Amino acid sequence: MVKDILVIGTGISGLTFAIHLAEENPEISMVLISKSDLNEGNTRYAQGGIAVVSNFKKDSFEKHIKDTIIAGDGACDPEVVKYVVEEGHYRLKELISWGTEFDTKKQKLDLAREAGHSEKRIVHYKDQTGLKIQEALIAKIKTFPNIQLLERHTLVDLITDHHSKAKANRCYGAYVISQEEEKIITITAKVTILSTGGAGSLYSHTTNPDIATGDGLGAAYRARVHMERLPYVQFHPTALKPKINDHTFLITEAVRGAGGKLLNSEGERFMLKNDPRAELAPRDIVARGIQLELEKQKEDFVWLDGSEIELKQWKSHFPTILETCKSIGINLPEDPIPVVPAAHYFCGGIKVNSSSESSLKGLYAIGECSATGLHGANRLASNSLLESLVFSFRAAQDVKIALKQKLPDTDFYASIPEWNGDSYSNSKEIDSIQLLRGELQQLMTQYVGIFKTNEGLQIAENKIDTIYRKVNEIYNSHKLTYGLCELRNMVSIAYLITKQSQEISENKGVFYNNDYA
Ligand SMILES: Cc1cc2nc3c(=O)[nH]c(=O)nc-3n(C[C@H](O)[C@H](O)[C@H](O)COP(=O)(O)OP(=O)(O)OC[C@H]3O[C@@H](n4cnc5c(N)ncnc54)[C@H](O)[C@@H]3O)c2cc1C
Repeated sequence: MVKDILVIGTGISGLTFAIHLAEENPEISMVLISKSDLNEGNTRYAQGGIAVVSNFKKDSFEKHIKDTIIAGDGACDPEVVKYVVEEGHYRLKELISWGTEFDTKKQKLDLAREAGHSEKRIVHYKDQTGLKIQEALIAKIKTFPNIQLLERHTLVDLITDHHSKAKANRCYGAYVISQEEEKIITITAKVTILSTGGAGSLYSHTTNPDIATGDGLGAAYRARVHMERLPYVQFHPTALKPKINDHTFLITEAVRGAGGKLLNSEGERFMLKNDPRAELAPRDIVARGIQLELEKQKEDFVWLDGSEIELKQWKSHFPTILETCKSIGINLPEDPIPVVPAAHYFCGGIKVNSSSESSLKGLYAIGECSATGLHGANRLASNSLLESLVFSFRAAQDVKIALKQKLPDTDFYASIPEWNGDSYSNSKEIDSIQLLRGELQQLMTQYVGIFKTNEGLQIAENKIDTIYRKVNEIYNSHKLTYGLCELRNMVSIAYLITKQSQEISENKGVFYNNDYA
C-alpha cells in the first residue's frame, strides 16, 4: 500500500492530526491504523478532562504555566510549557467545533479543579470526557474521503534506510500485521506518525487497556530513534482493586477533589502524615504514601472513603464510577472503595521537537508516546490530552510544508522489499508468551515501580536480559504472532526504563530511588 501519510494510532493524537491535515488538504492520501477497534486506547478511558485556561477572570496562562512547572519538579522545558498552555484555548475550540460535548453551567464551560491545579480549569464531560472526545473524533474522521481507516492492523516495525538502499536517516512507512489477511503487509508513506499511546501494560496494575504495550516505543527503539525520560512513569494513586473484565478501573482524583478521603485498614487518614495537602497532594506523593502504607500494614489495598460526597453528586459527576462500583457490590456513597496505585502515564518517550518530529526524518511522534518537554519529571493532571491537541496541530502544520519538499520518488518506494509474507500466524499463541509477559510485569512492578533501589534495578536488568533472550529465541524460531509482537516491544522498553533508571541519581517528580532519598 502506498500513501502520503501513515498514522499509527487512532486516539486523540492520531485522529486530531489527521483531521487538521485533511480539512485543508483533500488531495493528501492518508491511512490510519489501530491495533484493536478504532476507539480502543487510553483516550477513551480519560475521566477527568482537559486542562485549559478558559475563565480569564480568575485564571491566567501564568498560573497554569506555574502549576505545570511545579508538578514537573523543575524538569519541564519552560518554552514548551508556555506555548502548550497558550495554544490550548484555540485547540479546545476546534475540538468543540468538531462535535465534542463538555459539561456547561449557565452556558459556560463547567470547570473542575484537580490536584496540583491552583484554579478550576478542567474541561470535562461527567467522568467520561475521553469517551466523548473519542466518539466525536471518530464521527468526524469518517467524513473525509481521503482517509482510509484500518482496524486490527498492528505495527511490527518501521521501514528505514536499513530496509532500503538509502542513507537518508528517514522513515518510509511500516510493516504492519493485517489480522484479517493473516499476513504482514507493507505500507509505505512519505510521512509516518506514531501516535501509539503508552505502555502501562508493562506493570501488573495499570489503568491503561491491555493493548498499551509500548509498540510505538519498541519500534522506534529498533529504528534507533532518540528517546528520553522513560523512567518517569506516573502511577495513579487510586485504581479500583478488583479488576473489571480483566481491566483495572480508574477512580479519578476528582473524587478526592470532591472530598474523598484515603483510609488504612484501621480507618486512619494516613495521608495527613505524608503531606499537609493530604489526599490532594500531587499524584506521585499520594501514590508513594499509599504504597508505603500498604507495605507497612502488609495489605494489598487501602480504602477511598467517599461518604462525604452526596449521592446526587456521584450521579451527576461520577456516574460511571457509581455504576462500576455497584456492579461489584460497592454501594456509594456509604461503602468505601478498595484502591491501589496503578501505572498510568508515561511522561517520557520519543524525543520530539516543537513540531513533534523525531530524530528520524519523516517520523513524527504525537501524544503519550512522545517526549515533548511539557511534563518534565511528572505530568500535571489533565495536561496530556492538552499536549496531544497542541502537538497534533503543530505536527499537521509542519507535515504540510514537509510534503512540498523533495522526497523520495515512487520508484524508490516501489523498491522497498516486502516482509517475508509467510511469517505471521493468527493461530493460538505460543504458550510461553503469556508466562513471560506475566513474569515481566511482576518484576517491573517489584523492582522498577513506585520505589526503586540500585540493587533492585540490577536484579531487574539481569532478569529482563534472560526474558529478552527467550523472546529472541521464540522470535527467531516461530512465525510472528500478535502476542509475540507485543512482548518483543514490552521487553525492549522494560530494558530501556531499567537502564535509564540506573543512570539517574536524583529523585525528581515520579522517579524515586530509595538509595537517593
Ligand atoms: C484511565 C485513564 C484516565 C486518564 N485520564 C486523563 C484525563 O482526565 N486527562 C488527561 O489529560 N489525560 C488522561 N489520561 C491520559 C490520556 O488519556 C492519554 O495520555 C491520551 O489519551 C493518549 O492519547 P494518544 O492518542 O497518545 O494514545 P491512545 O489514546 O492510547 O491511542 C493509542 C492508539 O495507538 C494504537 N496502537 C498502539 N499500538 C499499536 C500498534 N502496534 N499498531 C497499530 N496501532 C497501535 C491503538 O490502537 C490506539 O488507537 C488518562 C489515561 C487513562 C488510561
